[in-house]
Amino acid sequence: MASITSSSVTPYAQPVPALWASVIAWLVWPIVSIWLRIRQARGARHSIPLTEAITPAQMLALKPCFPSEVLAAVRVQLVPMLAAAIPPRLVRRLKLPRTLDLTTMRGMCYGDLLIIAGAPKAPPAALVFHELVHTCQYRVLGRERFLRRYVFSYVRTLDYWQIDLELQAYELQRRFMLSQAAPDDQPPEPPPDVWYEVIAMVGRVR
Ligand SMILES: [Zn+2]
Repeated sequence: MASITSSSVTPYAQPVPALWASVIAWLVWPIVSIWLRIRQARGARHSIPLTEAITPAQMLALKPCFPSEVLAAVRVQLVPMLAAAIPPRLVRRLKLPRTLDLTTMRGMCYGDLLIIAGAPKAPPAALVFHELVHTCQYRVLGRERFLRRYVFSYVRTLDYWQIDLELQAYELQRRFMLSQAAPDDQPPEPPPDVWYEVIAMVGRVR
């Protein structure tokens, strides 16, 4: 869902037992869902089509990786910094993982809406690619299954780097970057077919 820098990840405690993680995820995901809907509605009002948020060269690079209807539907809100989901002071006081305050994140995916930090600078293609992988996961799984899976995965380990949907997004992002800039002595990797890869990982389309 989000992209962060490795320096912003807080090493954290022991994994939560699966049963407890399920209970917590079931309790938490409706709150996350409502919060996302509010952010989504607010962001949508200030968003622009993806084609206007990135350069034609970046769009050309992304085209082989995503279905054209996804690229046409996605809108982007460019902001200087992501708004805090939980007040940073509360995150510190409760000793929660720093990733929960979201201000260290570079991007967030709300289905077909991406919120990208760093404005007024143009977003890097790799970051947009990463968030678009989440858009595909979101579309394939459906909103509810995506959120439950993401929240469960996070609560289970309390480690951003163990969230399976994130691991897939970072792995595909790595392959995309290799396809863009191969070392001189190697042929470039083919760009990943993200829709195919997402279906292969999470199952059928809903
Ligand atoms: Zn992500």
